Amino acid sequence: MDRKIPPYLFFIFLSFFSIVLTFVVFKPFISEDISINLVLYSVGKLAGLIGFLFLSILIISGDTARFFDRFFGMDKIIKFQRKFSLITAVFVIAHPLFFMLSSGNYLNYLIPDFAVLPLALGIISLYIFVIVMACSILYKRVSYQSWQYIHILTYILFFFGLYHALNTGSDTGNIFVKSILDILLTGMIIGGIYRTCYKIKQRKFKCFVKEVKWETKDTFTLILKPNKKLNFKAGQFCFLRLNKDKLYARHPFTISNSPDEEDLHFTVKLTGKFTKAVSELKKGEEVIVDGPFGIFTLENNKGNLVFLAGGVGITPFMSMIRNQSKSNDKKNIFLLYGSKKENDTIFKSELDRINGKWLKIIYLFSQEDNPKKIYEKGYINKEIIKKYVEDRENSLFYICGPESMKRLCEKELKALGINNKNIIIESFFW
Ligand SMILES: Cc1cc2nc3c(=O)[nH]c(=O)nc-3n(C[C@H](O)[C@H](O)[C@H](O)COP(=O)(O)OP(=O)(O)OC[C@H]3O[C@@H](n4cnc5c(N)ncnc54)[C@H](O)[C@@H]3O)c2cc1C
Repeated sequence: MDRKIPPYLFFIFLSFFSIVLTFVVFKPFISEDISINLVLYSVGKLAGLIGFLFLSILIISGDTARFFDRFFGMDKIIKFQRKFSLITAVFVIAHPLFFMLSSGNYLNYLIPDFAVLPLALGIISLYIFVIVMACSILYKRVSYQSWQYIHILTYILFFFGLYHALNTGSDTGNIFVKSILDILLTGMIIGGIYRTCYKIKQRKFKCFVKEVKWETKDTFTLILKPNKKLNFKAGQFCFLRLNKDKLYARHPFTISNSPDEEDLHFTVKLTGKFTKAVSELKKGEEVIVDGPFGIFTLENNKGNLVFLAGGVGITPFMSMIRNQSKSNDKKNIFLLYGSKKENDTIFKSELDRINGKWLKIIYLFSQEDNPKKIYEKGYINKEIIKKYVEDRENSLFYICGPESMKRLCEKELKALGINNKNIIIESFFW
């Protein structure tokens, strides 16, 4: 969902630290003669400091992501980390590169010499960084063991990097640089403790397959029986993992049943290796469930609710609709639900049974051609929204579906003058 804390605040915070670091590094130029080697050396130093700051933010934000989920949404934090790690890589690699250029000596920065321990550990942490980056790119196909090693490597990387930063170069005594490093170390320790406590708690939560129920030709609902009830809000998702066949990498799926039920339902579309393996699970097999996460939920907002769903993007709405159908306090919901054909429409018979007073449904089929049926043909667009949603000013629009549908709906809502804050989006892109 659109975050509740604007991300630019984070970038203002980062820019502030980067500017102060730039000032600290380049301050000597004010009194010294500028030479090209000194400039290259200082750029290398600055890249190192910023690279280490960014790297620490990446590790700390990973460790505390479960806490910050309530403000930003876990999926957004992970997507941020993926992009931010590329920016971090540029700074980390620029660090030794500029030193090499400034000194003309390449081997000093490539081969660790343990007689100069801080520099040697810096070089080793650079290699660990490259390994961790490569593993993160290839992480989809990992086993549980490889996953654990990657995490241990990340902590080794941080502490080697910290030792290197504290004991190498001309800024080791600088109070500002030292304070930043102290803050990062504190953040790292708090993050590590938080993560460990979370993992211990999570290990006690176990889920076993109760049933795999097919909904359409390529979509099924995985019904899990947990050893204790999971508290979640309608619209939230969990990460699922399988501890077999190198399928340990996490995959997000929205809970499709109502929060008051004991079991957990995940309605899944077959798209690749992981979803296929899930569809073949047998009764009694264990699925590792981490969650709930996400902020694509209904708050106590005023106004009508308009749900724009595409394909398997119906899952968060199904949880909300099922939840509301059991509650006494019913809001008006308008559901515009697009699928390829009628047969591909997940939960159609259940939705048809609820369709009535508080829930109004319009189906859209992009590939159906049956003149007797009542539905709209094509995709959700301005005209359709205008035709069915009268009080648009006082409506909250929730969108969930494939990327193309999500982008189109957002564009069309904006073209209709709907305020940004009334458009709430969940992205299934992973
Ligand atoms: C918050 C959130 C909630 C979600 N809820 C649901 C849900 O309720 N039901 C559901 O069916 N799906 C849901 N998804 C999407 C789901 O996580 C992916 O479809 C699934 O993880 C893909 O698994 P796979 O079998 O393709 O795995 P793999 O075999 O590991 O994937 C193969 C490759 O296909 C590509 N790919 C497949 N699907 C996606 C995708 N969605 N985005 C980007 N690349 C993709 C990737 O390149 C991937 O490496 C959700 C995603 C998010 C972010």
